[in-house]
Amino acid sequence: MSVIVGIDLGATRVKAGVMQAGRVVAVRAENLLPEDKSERGIVQRLAQAARAAVEDAGIPWDSARAIGIGAPGAIRMAQGIVTLSPNFPEWREFPLADRLAERAGRPVVLDNDANVITLGEAVHGAGRGAGDFVCFTLGSGVGSGLFVGGDVYRGADGMAGELGHLTVEPEGFPCNCGNRGCLEQYASAAGLRNMVRRDRLFGDMTEAAAQDPDLPQRLYEAARNGDARTQGYWDEFGYRLAIAVSAVLHALNCRAIVLQGGLARAMPAFMPRLEAELPKRGYPAIMSSARIVPCELWEEAGVIGAAALAARLQA
Ligand SMILES: [Zn+2]
Repeated sequence: MSVIVGIDLGATRVKAGVMQAGRVVAVRAENLLPEDKSERGIVQRLAQAARAAVEDAGIPWDSARAIGIGAPGAIRMAQGIVTLSPNFPEWREFPLADRLAERAGRPVVLDNDANVITLGEAVHGAGRGAGDFVCFTLGSGVGSGLFVGGDVYRGADGMAGELGHLTVEPEGFPCNCGNRGCLEQYASAAGLRNMVRRDRLFGDMTEAAAQDPDLPQRLYEAARNGDARTQGYWDEFGYRLAIAVSAVLHALNCRAIVLQGGLARAMPAFMPRLEAELPKRGYPAIMSSARIVPCELWEEAGVIGAAALAARLQA
């Protein structure tokens, strides 16, 4: 029986998963080494990871039909090209799909990581049967994907659904996209760091605390233990996210907003403010017809979505 390989490529890690009959039967997760980050290095590394995952599943490589990849950055899906990726600064107009297809001897399809996660939730997760929906990935930044009319909507250049750069505060924190006050600068780990720095929450220890990878977890636990000041950060998180959700609902009138990413696990801390804010931010008929729900696939969405993308290639 044939299998599909889904690859979730992150800034520092690669995860290759094997899908058979709609189920993940093996996942291989490995850290990237510095030499893996070149164009030549990544092709070799991804080909190895794909084969290793199939072997882990106890399946011969000959049974692997196709490979799907979700990668960070600006991607022209039709050509399989990464235009540029801030996480891989050496890449320029890099034809990753073709290079990996040559190396692995299988057809390869490539899309932006947030789009792939959205497709995964659409086919196997919280978006199943939901019709049109929008998926926000709340993590170190904010990614998003638009699922419209039965597929991910990609726009003219494959860059539709960059909702992390919706303006939620016109004169807010500067963003690396060139704008100020983007959603990503509030409703993400970067956003929590911005707020902590703004208020010097930890006094002289603020900078060290802001750089702590565990800061979001620390703030979450403090808020859940009743610390009012820390809860204020989650309230701001929910408030800014509500502004963006309102814009999206007015644009698409979709029935569901799916929250993905590690910080979606903090929904108990930020949802009360988000839900209190939404009814004040637009047409009641639009706002009240959408549900805001957690994802179902969590960390597996990238692998499952990439496999779903490759399965469509073959269909
Ligand atoms: Zn931005």
